[in-house]
Formats: sequence, C-alpha cells, structure tokens
Amino acid sequence: MQYLFDEDGRRYLDAFGGIATICCGHCHPEVIEAIINQMKRLQHSTVLYLNHAIADFAEALASKLPGDLKVVFFTNSGTEANELALMIARLYTGCHDIISLRNAYHGNAAGTMGATAQCNWKFNVIQSGVHHALNPDQYRGIFGSDGEKYAKDVQEIIDFGTSGRVAGFISEAIQGVGGILELAPGYLPSVYNSIKKAGGLCIADEVQAGFARTGSHFWGFEAHGVVPDIVTMAKGIGNGIPIGAVVTTPEIAQVLTRRSYFNTFGGNPVCTAGGHAVLKVLEKEKLQENALVVGSYLKDGLMALKEKHERR
Ligand code: PMP
Repeated sequence: MQYLFDEDGRRYLDAFGGIATICCGHCHPEVIEAIINQMKRLQHSTVLYLNHAIADFAEALASKLPGDLKVVFFTNSGTEANELALMIARLYTGCHDIISLRNAYHGNAAGTMGATAQCNWKFNVIQSGVHHALNPDQYRGIFGSDGEKYAKDVQEIIDFGTSGRVAGFISEAIQGVGGILELAPGYLPSVYNSIKKAGGLCIADEVQAGFARTGSHFWGFEAHGVVPDIVTMAKGIGNGIPIGAVVTTPEIAQVLTRRSYFNTFGGNPVCTAGGHAVLKVLEKEKLQENALVVGSYLKDGLMALKEKHERR
C-alpha cells in the first residue's frame, strides 16, 4: 500500500502520500470495506440527523485529545476546519485580530488565506485581521533554536499592533507546506501564555502534523507540552477521503448555538465511517510506532548528511 505505479507500470515508493494524506496506505482494505458498507446502508442525510457513524467517530476522535477538548465539528477539508476555528475564536472573544506565523499554510478561503503566510499561496484579494509573527525557524531564523526570543515578537504584536486583546493564535507544530519546519522548542508555551493573557484562544492546526505522523506523539502540539483551546485536522484523518474536523471544549463550542452552523456534506456518514476505520487501522497496525521507527531512521540519515554538506 506504499507504492504507486505510473502509466508504464513502473513502481514508486510513495514518500509523499498525497501531501501527508495517505496515512495508512493506499486503498487500505479495512478502510475501503468500512466505506462500502456505510454506502450500502446510508450515504447521506446531513448531520442534522445524527446517526452512529458520525457520533462513533466523533467519540473516538475526542478520546485521542487531552483535557476538555471533547466537542467535534466535522467539515470537508482542512481549509473549512480552520475557517470554522477562526470564526469560533472571533465569536468567543469578541475580537477580530488573529496572529499566525510567517511561512504558515492554513488554507485557501477568505480567512485562512489571510492566515496563510507564503506569497505563492496568497491571491491579491482583501485579507483582513491577521498579523504574521516572526517564524521560530530553527534552521534559518535569526534566533536559531531559542523559542522564547521569537515568542517576544507575538507579545509585541499584541502590545503594538492590536487593542491589547486578540481573538487568537493559529499555528502548525511542524510547518508542512512551509518545508517541514519544526517550531523552536519553548516557543509555543511562551506564546500560548501571551495569547491567553490577551484573552485569545490558541488554535493548533494539526492538518499535517497530527494523527500519529510524528511518531513520538499522536498530535504535533504534544511535543511542545501545550494544550490548545481548539484543534483542527484533516488530510490523514480520512486517508484520502474528504473530511476535516474542529475539536474544542464544550464552553467554547457553545458560541455556535447563537446561529445554526450548517454544512451539507461535512461529517457525512460515509466519510466518518471511513475516518473511524482509519483510526482503528492506525491503532491495530501500530502505525504511530512505525512512524517513529522509520521516521527516526530517515531523520538520522538526513542529520548525517547535514554534517557533510553546506547549509543553504
Ligand atoms: N492546514 C495545513 C497545515 C495544511 O497543510 C493544509 C493543506 N495543505 C490545510 C490546512 C488546508 O487543507 P485543505 O487543502 O484540505 O483545505
């Protein structure tokens, strides 16, 4: 399930996995079976009418998250998940200002393109309310691996670029589209502290780093010892089917009862049955452990190359 074949039948080891999406192998039989069985039973009704496929996956997902992160909203993509998370943060705090990181990727719709900070993914349209902080890039950043020094930039944005109150902070733990950059250690705890003091919510975008991919932890943020207020996910959670999710606390989730949040396909039973099957495969086949073993082997090899070659 790790191979792809081109039109001449040539075999490739797929190290890309559909941009970090195929997390338990192409065409995994147990995922396919779960999807087909659900399609035979009920393909669609919307989440207005709850059924077990949706609730069971939501429950299983919530069990993988720490603390009070127990309310799950399903979407169709990572963009939609982050759009919803940004809106929840704005509603909960009554503030508009979001802080995100330079070199981040969070999506391609109105709010998330604003939070994205790489010029090749940003079209020239109005993108309001996002400040882009200095990237705690251990590799090329001006403060090297000193996370706390980069974190001061976030405090300065709050002090000098906002009213002193913010809606929230969004970041990946490892910037995926930005080149697989691990945030400097010590950065997130310090920033989360500043954001909380400014009344904001901390959003962890786990679209690429989450779902057992880092090996050492199930979620990327866990390696930094922080607990976010909102966690967003997509890609790997469906192994190729379009599904995303936002998980938050019951208290924060309450803001969505002010109006109706409706998403025709988000959390449809076919995608949630597939997502649930993916989670079961990850556990049954110990794929987090596999990511640790294979990933460490690859990383050690790359680190050894670093000794031999000039940094660019
Ligand atoms: N967040 C991150 C970290 C991503 O890498 C991506 C997609 N590359 C997204 C959000 C957006 O997800 P989607 O393409 O499913 O909308």
